[in-house]
Amino acid sequence: MNYNVNENGFYGNYGGAYIPEILYKTVEDLKNCYLPIINSDGFKKEFHALLKDYVGRPSPLYFAKRMSEKYGCQLYLKREDLNHTGAHKINNALGQILLAKKMGKKRIIAETGAGQHGVATATVCALMNMPCTIFMGALDVERQHVNVERMKMLGATVHPVESGNKTLKDGTNEAIREWCCNPADTFYIIGSTVGPHPYPDMVARLQSVISEEIKWQLEEKIGRDYPDYMMACVGGGSNAAGTIYHYLNDERVRFILGEAGGLGINTDMTAASLEVGTTGILHGSRIKLMQTEDGQMIEPYSISAGLDYPGTGPLHCNLYETGRAQVLAANDDEALRAAFELTRLEGIIPALESAHALALLPKVASQFKEDDVVVLTVSGRGDKDLDTYLSHQECMM
Ligand SMILES: *Cc1c(COP(=O)(O)O)cnc(C)c1O
Repeated sequence: MNYNVNENGFYGNYGGAYIPEILYKTVEDLKNCYLPIINSDGFKKEFHALLKDYVGRPSPLYFAKRMSEKYGCQLYLKREDLNHTGAHKINNALGQILLAKKMGKKRIIAETGAGQHGVATATVCALMNMPCTIFMGALDVERQHVNVERMKMLGATVHPVESGNKTLKDGTNEAIREWCCNPADTFYIIGSTVGPHPYPDMVARLQSVISEEIKWQLEEKIGRDYPDYMMACVGGGSNAAGTIYHYLNDERVRFILGEAGGLGINTDMTAASLEVGTTGILHGSRIKLMQTEDGQMIEPYSISAGLDYPGTGPLHCNLYETGRAQVLAANDDEALRAAFELTRLEGIIPALESAHALALLPKVASQFKEDDVVVLTVSGRGDKDLDTYLSHQECMM
């Protein structure tokens, strides 16, 4: 089996580019030039220099001794929380803005829900001196006030969207509308492995620096360049895609992915779109998404703002459907407990999103043998989630 995208932009039954006619040429241009550009020596040199000196890569691969003892395996944490701006999203934003410049684009637009991708995009726009407009649901603007202030401080224009539920999907719809109005000079930086082809593949490749580093870091630490298991949380899918990219077709490595169960996958307060979603088209791509029988989107729910996207990218839909990845939901309370546990056992306060990967450890520990090597990606740091942690101290052991 090959789990990479095929020449038509599909991963098995998922993916493709379902876009309005007016965007056809823009997306076609991107499709034709993203690979030649990102594989060129000039791009690679500039991207890797910035990843090193601006983002702070390589991110450490840390052997978590106390957590390993607790879960009966050799657990290594890939520390994306130590990146500039506090998560993995900067890897992708940086790659896309370099691509935008090489394509001669003059302005950047992006959508954001929790504000993390908005901050990453505003950051690289400041760095590259590009005008930046961020579309964000008006409700999210209220809920994520600090990130909105960050984006403004970085020089971005934040455009609150008043339509629909005033959340991520509405911000995305507005960003797409704006893109349709100015397709020639505008580059749309999408924040995860979602959207029309080639975005999912492009974002996965830009994030694949994570697994490229894991390869040599494992070789250095354990004398072989692959683990037995890899674990990550999944919202749209980009940190997971980056983690597993170079092992996709290496069946010695098993993948365990955590999506947001919210209050439970049997309630309507969930964001576990792989487990409860059905096939449909959202934001230009055929994916599994949360929708009613007549195709109305259901608002997702998770305590973690970065995971409450109503769908999951096409790569992960295919990994789920084929059984290549084991997908489990972690509920709010389980993620909270996992965040407190990592904090107390290793002195690392993770992002709530990342805690959804950590929360799978108690669920899957019985699969592990003592010497199994498990790499788990800590996608971001928890500073932004401190208020949530403080109001749920009952989950502290
Ligand atoms: C946005 C975000 C996620 C979820 O996005 P993916 O594309 O699934 O990686 C996970 N962790 C953190 C810290 C985030 O900011």
